[in-house]
Amino acid sequence: MNKIYKTWPGGRFKVLTLSYDDGKVQDRRLVKILNDHGIRATFNLNSGLTNDTSIRIPKEEWKELYQGHEVAVHTVSHPTLYRSPDLEIVKEILNDREEIERVMHRPIRGMAYPNGACDDRIIGIAKTLGIRYARQVNDTYAQVCSARQFAKEAEGNMRLGDKTGFELPEDYYRWTPTCHHNHHLMQYAKEFAALYKKQYLYMFYVWGHSFEFDDDDNWNIIEDFAEFIGGRDDIWYATNIEIVDYNEAFANLQFSADNSFVYNPTATDVWLSVNDGPAICVPAGNQMDL
Ligand SMILES: [Zn+2]
Repeated sequence: MNKIYKTWPGGRFKVLTLSYDDGKVQDRRLVKILNDHGIRATFNLNSGLTNDTSIRIPKEEWKELYQGHEVAVHTVSHPTLYRSPDLEIVKEILNDREEIERVMHRPIRGMAYPNGACDDRIIGIAKTLGIRYARQVNDTYAQVCSARQFAKEAEGNMRLGDKTGFELPEDYYRWTPTCHHNHHLMQYAKEFAALYKKQYLYMFYVWGHSFEFDDDDNWNIIEDFAEFIGGRDDIWYATNIEIVDYNEAFANLQFSADNSFVYNPTATDVWLSVNDGPAICVPAGNQMDL
């Protein structure tokens, strides 16, 4: 019986995605850097906070500026949601979604929690309102550091690198980034570039706020990163929602019971490898012998 392995589009096994919050004017410089290197990101916007256009990107500019990237919900006014009553959470998410959709004229299904605050109640409401994933602000960096430290202390008794920080999320409503851009970004980038074990799928997820590059006077961090990690054949550069949608398309493949053929009923081309061979594309709406 054939052994089937999912790959990212193009047969790749690494995906890079970025997520930047609040839609402030420094997004202009960030988008330019990303575009120059073919890197793609999700920008999380507060539709109720755009009055001062010396600080925030005006709505009239959203469509052009964020072209080729995803824009997603960050609520209307940026409250810490677990302190808010249900109805307020509904309005903050739904009204933001509706306003962004009015401006962008495309379905908006992603979200980043303001101040990272989420719990089961907020997730339940977000799901009801058509949100397909949501991002937190804690990152796996701390977990990985402590795992590595622990391994070091155990002096080789524990396998180093059990956690790479590049694992896929278990719960896309508690999507945890690999690192904030101030947390050893280049070190992570080098480790990511060096990954070669194709029995895993890897994800590198960077988050932050573009205004932090001004505040910290460290635009060189993201410029060096983009220069190094951009334009590589073995990395899929995706927005957050593209990853979620691709996973969904793969999950919707219909395999024959003996894995000898597969039907792709979705509108998305899906890639897989058979018996560890080179990845093949199962085109949208097609059936293929494997
Ligand atoms: Zn924010």
